[in-house]
Amino acid sequence: MRLARFIHPGGLAFGAVEGAPDAPLDALTVAELEGIPFEKVVFTGQRWALPDVQLLSPIVPSKVVGVGRNYAAHAAELGNEVPSAPLLFLKPATAVVGPANVIQLPADSNRVEHEAELAVVIGATGARDVPKERALDTVLGYTCANDVTARDLQKADVQFTRAKGFDSFCPLGPWIETNLDPSDLGVRCEVDGELRQDGRTKDFIFDVATIISYVSHIMTLLPGDVILTGTPAGVGPITPGQKVSVSIEGIGTLTNPVVSRG
Ligand code: MG
Repeated sequence: MRLARFIHPGGLAFGAVEGAPDAPLDALTVAELEGIPFEKVVFTGQRWALPDVQLLSPIVPSKVVGVGRNYAAHAAELGNEVPSAPLLFLKPATAVVGPANVIQLPADSNRVEHEAELAVVIGATGARDVPKERALDTVLGYTCANDVTARDLQKADVQFTRAKGFDSFCPLGPWIETNLDPSDLGVRCEVDGELRQDGRTKDFIFDVATIISYVSHIMTLLPGDVILTGTPAGVGPITPGQKVSVSIEGIGTLTNPVVSRG
């Protein structure tokens, strides 16, 4: 199921996106669901054409856990070694925006970069001290993410909080695919139609189960929490007026315009 969160003429709801996976967005419909469909999925019977609703970030997490340097080619392009254990950082929930929301470039940075990433969304049970063998059972599904990063501030601060924590620096969407094997998916980024990143999750240094287990032994993952699994090689700058798209095989495409923060 493709699980979306959206605003319709009567309010806000979760819904199941319906239509062929390769159909254009304006040919899709969304069927409204009751409540927050983590444990059970109940249809209300309401249905809209996708162009008649506004998609929001498909989830509002309590926290976003990032994994750095999880592809060897990306670690190398920034002159870093591959870590011996997952390298973690946090992005605040306030960085999350949805499809079509703008990425706002702060005046404090002269170099903001895109990072296309597979995002893991934790399901109803949450995850605490989960062994690797059971880690994938805690997953609700997967969505596209852009781990937007102020590269100059990341280098200046060493710590990642400022560089990765600005409002709008975590676009998520367009929906959560709940039926997906994350072990070998294409992860691509295009800026104004130019291909910048083109990797595959089979090249992860730490796979999804290993990451969930590792994180869950440090902090409790609550339902809806998001883990960003790292970006492939090809990161680069984005500037006002551009459109940046993250596409993941089996999920879809997340597109956000870039503006200056006013
Ligand atoms: Mg990243």
